[in-house]
Amino acid sequence: MSDQPNLDYKIVLLGDSSVGKSSLVFRLSKNRFCENLEPTIGGLCVIQNIEIGESEVKLKIWDTAGQERFHSLTPLYYRGAKGAIIVYDITNSESYKRATDWILELRENGEQDAKIVLVGNKIDLERKVVEDTTAQKFADKNDLHFFTTSAKTGEGVNQVFFVLAQLISQMN
Ligand code: GDP
Repeated sequence: MSDQPNLDYKIVLLGDSSVGKSSLVFRLSKNRFCENLEPTIGGLCVIQNIEIGESEVKLKIWDTAGQERFHSLTPLYYRGAKGAIIVYDITNSESYKRATDWILELRENGEQDAKIVLVGNKIDLERKVVEDTTAQKFADKNDLHFFTTSAKTGEGVNQVFFVLAQLISQMN
């Protein structure tokens, strides 16, 4: 029996509708769902265990289930979240601009020390309109980590969750 502490991290996905939030979780999780702990949120929670060094960490990954469309994410969605993944679609400049709003929203409603990762998704598409260097500069300025991913091919996806979990584990 391991006497490791219970490493249990809540992570929330944020970003405009259709940027690929659910697809990223789906790609990571092999489709394993947990029951919705707070049914009023309307969100989905996926549990994924990952290894960080010698420890096994249980990620509880919350997806908006479309609630972001109506700006109706409740404070419960953010409560207790140790990390957040802010997603934009590299083929949609509006979704990139909105990433800033999502960060503010998280800062206002979420835990003060939540770790944030910025993700440009859909890199398998050729119609890129948001340059990586632009997003990287923004991330550097705001002390965020930045990754690009494709939920379609899987490129970069595991790394996002792994690095975020690592950042959180370093806080403890
Ligand atoms: P959400 O609303 O942010 O959760 O976005 P979804 O995960 O529902 O994805 C929205 C649409 O984008 C769907 O049609 C997905 O199949 C598509 N999509 C998501 N991720 C990718 C990706 O990495 N590449 C491509 N080509 N399409 C993607």
